[in-house]
Amino acid sequence: MVKTIIIEEHGGAEKFKLVDREVGEPGPGQIRIRHHACGLNFIDVYQRSGLYPMQLPHAMGMEGAGVVEAVGEGVTHLKVGDRAAYASMPPGAYCEARVMPAAQVCPLPDAISFEQGAAMMLKGMTVEYLFHRTTPIAKGDFVLFHAAAGGVGLLACQWAKSEGIRLIGTAGTDEKCQLALEHGAEFCINYRNADWVSTVRELTGGKGVHVVMDAVGKDTFDGSLDCLRPLGMMISFGNASGPVPPFNIGALGPKGSLKITRPTLFTHIADHATCQAMAAHLFEKVVSGAVEITIEQRFPLAQVADAHRALEGRQTTGQTVITVG
Ligand code: NDP
Repeated sequence: MVKTIIIEEHGGAEKFKLVDREVGEPGPGQIRIRHHACGLNFIDVYQRSGLYPMQLPHAMGMEGAGVVEAVGEGVTHLKVGDRAAYASMPPGAYCEARVMPAAQVCPLPDAISFEQGAAMMLKGMTVEYLFHRTTPIAKGDFVLFHAAAGGVGLLACQWAKSEGIRLIGTAGTDEKCQLALEHGAEFCINYRNADWVSTVRELTGGKGVHVVMDAVGKDTFDGSLDCLRPLGMMISFGNASGPVPPFNIGALGPKGSLKITRPTLFTHIADHATCQAMAAHLFEKVVSGAVEITIEQRFPLAQVADAHRALEGRQTTGQTVITVG
């Protein structure tokens, strides 16, 4: 029996239940992993609230790290005793141990701790595809990145710096802006008390940025389009402030033949080889020191509701882990 967090209905953080569950043996293509930690992601909030509906009851959590305890038939890239980490569908990482598909589980280098592994897989591979698999971004290009002091944000600041990309961040407090700057953002604007669209224009000599990476959604979407230069690319990849309302695609023409995409990590990592290659690229960035994974908040499994309240309440910065055991 293992301790597992489930929800039986969508709603607020009070909906979490800590239950004891049988964990079982892995079938073909599966492994059993015993977690040392799991990650906290804003997608967990959408799944809990019902913005991204799930069939209920359902386990929760999309990212974790630990030791492989058992391996099912046909799994060749992992063996019993391996250190491993993953970002994976279906949800179910908020637990002591689980049986899960092996394809998206990656061997974790010794230089990366379990907590770092648990905190970085979903957000780190997201940053990998944003900078390398979504639109061409050249050295010296400007990228506007909202919520730059968040989990994905602090990784994006460091990644951009390591690639010579000029990242303009936004964040909700001056302290968060300072943190983004310390992690490699070239500029950071407190978007709660500044006209950030005009500031972005000024910082780019009136031209606008080449790319916007916007996962704040409803509150920033329109302004983000106004920050782009002609032929610029809008990457809308999340909804922390609420979903983007339906919009008129015809508006992209007069704004300068803008492009727009709405990507998800899980499309990118659906293919085993691509997932392992993205993870290898991420590990290389972390092991080389180009991207540092620091854990800013820790919550025990039984207090996952407090972790969600902090994340939704804009109280967290950088990476948060749920500690297990
Ligand atoms: P963060 O740690 O970035 O937390 C979200 C941040 O959004 C907050 O800290 C806050 O920063 C900002 N924010 C702005 N408005 C609001 C609001 N009304 N309520 C709450 N927060 C708000 O979360 P993650 O790093 O886990 O994820 C960042 C975003 O990236 C999310 O939208 C997530 O869904 C998306 N994502 C998308 C993926 C994809 O493949 N499509 C994969 C991974 C993440 P501040 O106070 O500075 O404004």
